[in-house]
Amino acid sequence: MTAPATPVPMEKHTAPMPVLLLIGPPGCGKGTQAERLATRLNIPAISTGEMIRAEIKAGTQLGKIAAGVTITGGLLSDDLVNQIVASRIEQEDCAGGFLLDGYPRSIEQANFLEKLLAGRGLPQPAVVHIDVPSEQLIARTCMRRFCSQCGQLFNLLSQPPKSEGACDQCGAILAQRADDCEDTVRNRLTAYEKTTAPLINHYRARNYRRVDGTANPDGVHEAILAALA
Ligand code: ZN
Repeated sequence: MTAPATPVPMEKHTAPMPVLLLIGPPGCGKGTQAERLATRLNIPAISTGEMIRAEIKAGTQLGKIAAGVTITGGLLSDDLVNQIVASRIEQEDCAGGFLLDGYPRSIEQANFLEKLLAGRGLPQPAVVHIDVPSEQLIARTCMRRFCSQCGQLFNLLSQPPKSEGACDQCGAILAQRADDCEDTVRNRLTAYEKTTAPLINHYRARNYRRVDGTANPDGVHEAILAALA
């Protein structure tokens, strides 16, 4: 009978700086959510791709190595990506926290990040997993249509044309990008799951939150904020 009757209230003003990781399948709207979250929390959203392009553009030592690998069509090693992240989070705009999008991608990278943050006295990341069932991702992606004439985009689920199969703007026939859409998306999701499942297992016992990503972008944004509160 030693348990306290009332929980200890959280002190809002001592909230730690946010270090966030966003995980989610292709097509789940992760990029949009990363941007909205970054704006809302006033922290930079750092994507691995952008980081690498910035290093290359700035002509740093790491950038030169990355450019060499990219030109030959190779994949960047864990070691190189880790170094790029380490260099990025040292920058001034990360002093109040940051959001990582697309990193870590492997347990090795996750372990590196853990040591990196600990070494700098930063909190371990809060992981937000935007979960959307595969069937819905396939439906969302494969319901996309575009005008064969003017290029206007439609989605048979979320943004259907006023008259079936015809463009609202110019009346031309709507086309689908590929007949094998479902197979393509399924393959992409299988690859994603293979990479991500170990990471989700790794983080599940830590600071992990699963968010239902089936709602509209506003709803998902609110769900993420609620999960982080
Ligand atoms: Zn059109």
